[in-house]
Amino acid sequence: MNHDYDVISAARNWRMDGMARQVDGDVVTEVFARDVLTPEELRQRLSKPVWKSLQATMERGAPLDPAIADTVALAMKTWALEKGATHYTHWFQPLTGATAEKHDSFLAPTSDGSAIAQFSGKDLIQGEPDASSFPSGGLRATFEARGYTAWDPTSPAFILRHSNGATLCIPTAFASWTGEALDLKTPLLRSIEALNKAALRALALFGVTDATKVSSTLGAEQEYFLIDEEFYYRRPDLVMTGRTLFGAKPPRGQELEDHYFGSIPDRVLSFMTDVEHQLYALGVPVKTRHNEVAPGQYEIAPIFEHSNIAADHQQLIMQTLKNTARRYGMVALLHEKPFAGINGSGKHCNWSMGTDTGLNLLEPGDTPHENMQFLFFCAAVIRAVDVHQDLLRISVASASNDHRLGANEAPPAIISIFLGAELTDIFERIVSGKSVAGKSAGLLGLGTPVLPALPRHSGDRNRTSPFAFTGNKFEFRAVGSSQSISMPITVLNTIVAESIDALAGEVEALMKKKKSFEAALQEVLKSTYKKHSRIVFNGDGYSEAWHKEAAKRGLLNLRTALEAIERLTDEKNVELFSRYGVLNEREIEARQEIMYDQYFKTVNIEGETTEWVAQTQILPGALAYLAELSEVEVPNSKALGRTLEQVARAADALSDALECLKIHNADLGGDTVHEKAYHMRDKVLPAMQEVRKAADALERIVADKHWPLPSYREMLFVK
Ligand code: ADP
Ligand code: MG
Repeated sequence: MNHDYDVISAARNWRMDGMARQVDGDVVTEVFARDVLTPEELRQRLSKPVWKSLQATMERGAPLDPAIADTVALAMKTWALEKGATHYTHWFQPLTGATAEKHDSFLAPTSDGSAIAQFSGKDLIQGEPDASSFPSGGLRATFEARGYTAWDPTSPAFILRHSNGATLCIPTAFASWTGEALDLKTPLLRSIEALNKAALRALALFGVTDATKVSSTLGAEQEYFLIDEEFYYRRPDLVMTGRTLFGAKPPRGQELEDHYFGSIPDRVLSFMTDVEHQLYALGVPVKTRHNEVAPGQYEIAPIFEHSNIAADHQQLIMQTLKNTARRYGMVALLHEKPFAGINGSGKHCNWSMGTDTGLNLLEPGDTPHENMQFLFFCAAVIRAVDVHQDLLRISVASASNDHRLGANEAPPAIISIFLGAELTDIFERIVSGKSVAGKSAGLLGLGTPVLPALPRHSGDRNRTSPFAFTGNKFEFRAVGSSQSISMPITVLNTIVAESIDALAGEVEALMKKKKSFEAALQEVLKSTYKKHSRIVFNGDGYSEAWHKEAAKRGLLNLRTALEAIERLTDEKNVELFSRYGVLNEREIEARQEIMYDQYFKTVNIEGETTEWVAQTQILPGALAYLAELSEVEVPNSKALGRTLEQVARAADALSDALECLKIHNADLGGDTVHEKAYHMRDKVLPAMQEVRKAADALERIVADKHWPLPSYREMLFVK
């Protein structure tokens, strides 16, 4: 064995003793939310009037009364100290998509030489992280270099633990001094409010007046890979870029389908249990775990929550997966496509709307009245997805998700809706005016007094659709595994709010013309479905036929992230986001700028890493093998002659491709992030692809001992 790394030790020496948390014996219900300052916990620690005031802030988004800030801060500090926290941080979500924290100690020295723990109302409400290196897309440069963080009282504070202590985390928004959002949370909160208003307006039409609030609900299913850290740290491509830039397809991939839902290996199960335990303590309601389709791929999914909290929790899930894997000698890969030719990872976002009275607006229900309401909100979603295909596509656009969308394993880049046969049939009957066969024409003129039971079984679902109705919610499947879910939810909330308003407006207009509510509703459902049914597609989204059909229907096919990002600043989108107070024009422009920049930087790093690894590891390996072969003289050996010839040719091909990549790497394609991003897509990515092709061909013929990188065969199957 000439490798620096050892497959056998990777398989054998995974550590758990001493590193892993002992979770055996804990009662999960007692662990749950142990490290969360829940509203109930806060209530008990505050006087009644203070609690009432804070509650108004939490539930109705009223501004926090500065007079109570110190009292709330004191309660929070006391709780945190009891939990063993030494520091506090405003925990926020900059536009990088990750989370950011700057820790401050509670410790404050006193004049007598001792120290006290200090945390004031001011520290709670607002922080100034001086985070001037976060991307702002130019939003700060022209005004103020600094941004500030502001407490989001709708998401509870929590304690993040590490091996040597704990930190109080206060979920916050991040804005510039001019009030412009520099983060992902602020627009999400604004979109939640937009949806609330629109949905309440529509519910009033249906005579639902007991609900005082409608929130979007979200459950995100996170897919990820686990590989042994022994391999990870020997793959500069994985370490630098999160995905493998080289690697021949292993003799066996996922074709046997023996991994999917298979029994979970002990080491992985121990890891999962540890992850879940930590997440329970943080109040994240993790529900399911299982093997995914690809070897080495797994999934974790929580029960749905209010979307703001779900977005915070989703960040905690990603962070916990990454941190915990190391305790088990593994690395969690969250990249959308860590291994070419093997299934990628997504993050299905299950989305719905619910009232504070417990009503799910996308639940068909049992009575005609509930059915009508359901059809109304469903029609609003259909219209929203059709009118704003571009925005949904943009919300999942990134260099890494490009490797997944459109490949034959993930939803295509074309946005469409799977409704299922039953629901499609109902809408089609509404359009044609036909009643459900065998049933008398409906009570409310809809031809369908009670909807048939809609299937909710995953088995009945179309896996190829990017946006599927799954019984009582929609599932947005194009979301990438590594991205924050805030932007996709923000878009969903906003476009559905607009659609609800549009449909409610039409109903109201018809009623003004003396139509009954039922007649008006039916007319609106009919015209809406007729106009937007082109977005409904229940067939195979992977098929070539669908691509042609979608083009005929005039649906967008924004194949790469850049084509999508280009449209973010379209007039329609600027108008929509401004009208709903979610993002103003400057905030939108800033986001577009950052998306180009992130695309450019991602591919630029990949291009440089490809060059580096090919030049300093792969080519030397191939040449060493060539030299070794050239030294031996075995007259008349066909095998020697052939091998020498094949390796020499393949090495030449790699060298040629590498020279071409070097030229493109040395160029940035222009001065603007826009030009740079296109240079990366059109010049660097194809050149990288050529280098990879040549390298992967070499991997199959160079002697194993000369191959410098752990192979797919090793990384995916050693568990
Ligand atoms: P199924 O049995 O259809 O797979 P589950 O009920 O297990 O569905 O849900 C799958 C995912 O959808 C979970 O993450 C779950 O929390 C989420 N989900 C369920 N109901 C809703 C809802 N009303 N809003 C948002 N997400 C939901
Ligand atoms: Mg899944």
